[in-house]
Amino acid sequence: MHLARFPRLHLAHLPTPLEPMERLSKELGCEIWIKRDDCTGMSTGGNKTRKLEFLMAEAVEMGADTVMTQGATQTNHGRQTAAFAAKLGMDCHILLEDRTGYNNDNYNGNGNVLLDHLHGATTEKFPGGTDMPAEMEKAAEAERAKGKTVYVIPGGGSNPTGALGYVNCAFELVGQANDRGLVIDRVVHATGSSGTQAGLVTGMKAINSGIPVLGIGTRAPQPKQEQMVYDLACRTAEKLGCPGIVAREDVMANTDYVGEGYGLPTESGLEAIRMFAELEGILLDPVYSGKGAAGLIDLARKGEFEGQRIVFLHTGGAVGLFGYDFAFRG
Ligand SMILES: *Cc1c(COP(=O)(O)O)cnc(C)c1O
Repeated sequence: MHLARFPRLHLAHLPTPLEPMERLSKELGCEIWIKRDDCTGMSTGGNKTRKLEFLMAEAVEMGADTVMTQGATQTNHGRQTAAFAAKLGMDCHILLEDRTGYNNDNYNGNGNVLLDHLHGATTEKFPGGTDMPAEMEKAAEAERAKGKTVYVIPGGGSNPTGALGYVNCAFELVGQANDRGLVIDRVVHATGSSGTQAGLVTGMKAINSGIPVLGIGTRAPQPKQEQMVYDLACRTAEKLGCPGIVAREDVMANTDYVGEGYGLPTESGLEAIRMFAELEGILLDPVYSGKGAAGLIDLARKGEFEGQRIVFLHTGGAVGLFGYDFAFRG
């Protein structure tokens, strides 16, 4: 599989470490490793950095002077896009959707929002339920009318170009496992806009790794989440020149840990954040990686991973902790 055929900016800190989590493994009674994609670099890192290596390379190729994207108020993807734009000397505009109704200063101005502005991006808020892709097209047209060349990135950077970043991650992870003689039984991670899982599944199939990937949902119900991942995996495989390699049953998502909704912290997610912090010195977040880890922990406690070696892909997000400080009080 020849990924070098696609334009890419080599700005991520790769390969990310693959580390054992000994204390957590002991606590849960199965062997759990962690793939540190929270350490990818660009404004602290996270999973969007791998996607943006490919997306922003396209922006450079088209001669863009402006990038635009959208997400929830505390979007990690927006923050990482703002960092890439800063590095490349482009303007960055981020459309923020209020998906939680939280009306406090830290949620609306600290964490990712603080960093968006530090990187020189402009932000604009919209009420929950807004048709964000349509608003983004409108905003892009307004900039184009002023003579700007705008590259528009979908929410989460989830399209076949962005997913190439996680095809690459699958190759990287399998390479690390091969070098160390480490048989991996399953990869578990938080899934949202679907690019991460779509890329991973496609990459794992493309090299015939035989390693299943389990996404833990953070927003949509299971049928919708799996369909989104499957559709994007199919389009990613087509882009790679190997259409048809992903079967519907290769896409597995467990959406039992979403709680009341996207961006709303759960008890099990907060417990997972505390466990990783106290047992492993690793920071998760309440929107994504904490809910992903809550799924990992609960399934491990139920014995689903007995005798297996699991890799938890840490997708990042700890910057969001500073927008959610209220969740940890009392
Ligand atoms: C965006 C994000 C995810 C979800 O990845 P998708 O590719 O959108 O499914 C998981 N964790 C963190 C921290 C994220 O920012």
